[in-house]
Amino acid sequence: RAGVVTAPRKVLLPSPRSFCAGVERAIDIVEALLTRYGPPVYVRNQIVHNAFMVRDLEARGAIFVSELDEVPADARIVFSAHGVAPAVEREAERRGLDAIDATCPLVTKVHNEARRAANAEDTVVLIGHEGHEEVVGTMGVAPERTVLVERAADVATLVVRDPDRLTYLSQTTLAVAEVEEIIAALRRRFPKIKGPGSDDVCYATTNRQAAVAAVLEESDLVLVIGSVNSSNSNRLMEMARDAGTESHLIDYASEIEPEWLRDKGTIAVTAGASAPPVLVDEVVTAIASYGPIEVEERSVAEEHLEFLLPVRLR
Ligand code: SF4
Repeated sequence: RAGVVTAPRKVLLPSPRSFCAGVERAIDIVEALLTRYGPPVYVRNQIVHNAFMVRDLEARGAIFVSELDEVPADARIVFSAHGVAPAVEREAERRGLDAIDATCPLVTKVHNEARRAANAEDTVVLIGHEGHEEVVGTMGVAPERTVLVERAADVATLVVRDPDRLTYLSQTTLAVAEVEEIIAALRRRFPKIKGPGSDDVCYATTNRQAAVAAVLEESDLVLVIGSVNSSNSNRLMEMARDAGTESHLIDYASEIEPEWLRDKGTIAVTAGASAPPVLVDEVVTAIASYGPIEVEERSVAEEHLEFLLPVRLR
């Protein structure tokens, strides 16, 4: 049993948390295909970066592959929420696959911005993490015209074709504060650089970070439910740690170590945009098994956004 606390532990639930509109749509697409056509439904890469959801869909007949050549000819293939490079779409077409695009519309928006900038002969400066699937997809829109910046310190050494013809864009799931810092560094070095209205960090990422920020001061521990490859979930954990608050990223309630709860009177529990709400309930139940709790919702914003399914699945 973890440390004895006399008063009930406070469990704060920052809101918004858990599923965003893009993740719900991507999962709905796979579910709709399974219902309509039956298994198997092939999915390129993890549909969303969450171990529970991948296992759940696998159990229902989804088959996750990393490359299109793992998919039998004429099969149905879903592109994940993170988006794909146009070369992958062409390859699917060439192989006669029936492709269904589950790319989040907010990622598609960034692809469109990249295409417009490249058509205007700008170099795209993409702010993002090398190797992340979304970044691979966005860089693939105009590979010969895109350079990647991962941190503000990279800006000083960035090599570009023409400093007067630049457009910055960003991955949708980064830390808002870090993106702002990188954009400021870019503007200092390249005063003529253009960009989207604010940045491309999506509403869901922004809201989940704001919700955690609002409870940080009073929390002794922040548990973030999300998988290790989930960018937005990692950013939530880092935010807490950067503020000096103990924080852990977990996939399941069973990963909670009793030691973490010792002497923690107030625990915030949040979830990244790809983690389902049921996992939050399980974590709260697990905390309650260590002693009485009082649960408080702490909302900083309401989310009502919903994305339509592709026309053929409506
Ligand atoms: Fe779309 Fe943002 Fe959700 Fe990613 S985190 S799927 S960009 S809404």
